[in-house]
Amino acid sequence: MDPKDATPPDAPVDEAPRPEKRPSPRAVPDAAAPTSAQKRAASPTKSPAAKRTPAAKRTPAAKRSATGAAPATAAPARGRTRPKDHVHDVVVVGGGPSGSSCAYWLADAGWDVAVVEKKQFPREKTCGDGLTPRAVRQLADMGLEEALAGSHRFTGLRSCGWGLVLEMPWPAHPVFPPYGCTITRHDLDALVAERAAKAGAVVHQHTEALEPLLADASGSAGTPRVAPPGASLPECGGVVVRDVGTGVTREVRGRYVVVADGSNSRIGRALGTTRQRGYPLGMALRGYYRSPRHDDPYIESHLDIRDAAGDVVPGYGWIFPLGDGRVNVGVGLLSTDERWKGVNTSRLMEAFVAGAPASWELSEETSCGPPTGGKLPMSFGVVPHTGPNVLVIGDASGAINPFNGEGIAYGYETGRLAAASLSEALAGDGSAGVGRYEERLEAGYRDYYRVGRAFVRLISNPAAMHWCVSVGMRSEAFMSQLMRIMANLMRPGTPGAAELGYDALVRIAELVPEQVAALLA
Ligand SMILES: Cc1cc2nc3c(=O)[nH]c(=O)nc-3n(C[C@H](O)[C@H](O)[C@H](O)COP(=O)(O)OP(=O)(O)OC[C@H]3O[C@@H](n4cnc5c(N)ncnc54)[C@H](O)[C@@H]3O)c2cc1C
Repeated sequence: MDPKDATPPDAPVDEAPRPEKRPSPRAVPDAAAPTSAQKRAASPTKSPAAKRTPAAKRTPAAKRSATGAAPATAAPARGRTRPKDHVHDVVVVGGGPSGSSCAYWLADAGWDVAVVEKKQFPREKTCGDGLTPRAVRQLADMGLEEALAGSHRFTGLRSCGWGLVLEMPWPAHPVFPPYGCTITRHDLDALVAERAAKAGAVVHQHTEALEPLLADASGSAGTPRVAPPGASLPECGGVVVRDVGTGVTREVRGRYVVVADGSNSRIGRALGTTRQRGYPLGMALRGYYRSPRHDDPYIESHLDIRDAAGDVVPGYGWIFPLGDGRVNVGVGLLSTDERWKGVNTSRLMEAFVAGAPASWELSEETSCGPPTGGKLPMSFGVVPHTGPNVLVIGDASGAINPFNGEGIAYGYETGRLAAASLSEALAGDGSAGVGRYEERLEAGYRDYYRVGRAFVRLISNPAAMHWCVSVGMRSEAFMSQLMRIMANLMRPGTPGAAELGYDALVRIAELVPEQVAALLA
């Protein structure tokens, strides 16, 4: 990252450099998430807030609440020098895909946004490094298409299982590009954080959020609290942060707070988020290998990975070419079901590497280091998603697609949807604007993720999984349509086989309550 574009890690909040010229705040364009369900999506351009002049809707900052979080209508403090008690429009906790996207869209719309990120970019991040057309589209919308030019482009997915191999190019789509990219998170996350900083966000790196600033002293900051089902998160005035270099702590305050601190979500947990039992959770491991096929035009997935007893487990192994001499190799397992809780992912990885096609040349000799792993919370299974002035996005909300374990695109999209909602909140709609985030999630993902949960239950049954894969793999036409559904690349309003099949699945999922489906699986 260009040092002049981001706040130096040790710069105090008050002296954070600001861009010379800031535009008047305006509405954030909604994320491109054209699932068939999105026909019902709330449009920001139809919102009353979008028609207002933000400045005209503001009242003095003197009306701040006990937390320091001002009411949604308070005036933002702008300018290059900030008082010690400066309150940003928005504080974003975490500068990964979701946090940086949210910060970019807010800053681009003219709001005063600060990101606190505990690491220094560029930094390693455990991931498969695979971007589908959905993610590429979001990056292009943030003006990063050219920056991706040096990454490895791939044209589709090669699916392997039970001795069968199918190569499927990405399906054509009116909105999403016909290619995906692989790029290490080391490089990708630095690019997006830098983009947010260039748009005007203050990015505090090496700055770890320790606890939320809560209005309610009884829920003392740092103490995990679980919000009851249906409840909202508490009001939050910002976070206490620690400078990783010096150990000095301070407060970073905001009228609104966005929780984007990933799957472990220390701040989300402290506010009261919790994972709903029964929602899918993945575990995955990945490592890098040097390979002669590092620039293969297909990413590869293996659908018949096996545990120590030789039984096929619900998940897949992947080999993603990076185009830089290396491939990213990993295994992912759906660990929600009791039957798979005891599976050792390290053994699964060793077995997968040993059994991978020899042409990839995966071995101890070509390994670039031991594998690392992480959790994949899926299907928005982490709740609540909002409080009066708090929004939870990306992995912290469990936004990962349960069909394929993809989370980067959904981090970008939920960050953007949160920014659109906050822009309305800041322009005068207050907590009603915050509430529109939940509406946008419902409109964009509810049906799709409900079908995804049914899919997860199906493949958690070994016999059903074997039948589906062995039958499906014999039909290229079927697998191509399935790929369109699994990568969430349906075309709204187009009566194609995938779209018609998906619409039928949505109707079945609506008719069969999830509890009944769980018993049948
Ligand atoms: C092994 C593995 C492979 C995967 N492969 C893919 C893939 O190929 N494609 C794909 O689309 N998805 C993949 N995923 C999922 C993807 O990595 C996540 O969905 C994505 O990173 C979510 O982005 P996020 O911004 O919500 O969270 P994160 O990327 O986790 O970012 C959170 C950020 O917050 C920071 N942070 C955390 N705590 C604090 C704190 N207290 N204070 C300040 N900062 C903090 C972190 O340093 C981090 O930068 C994979 C996941 C795993 C585990």
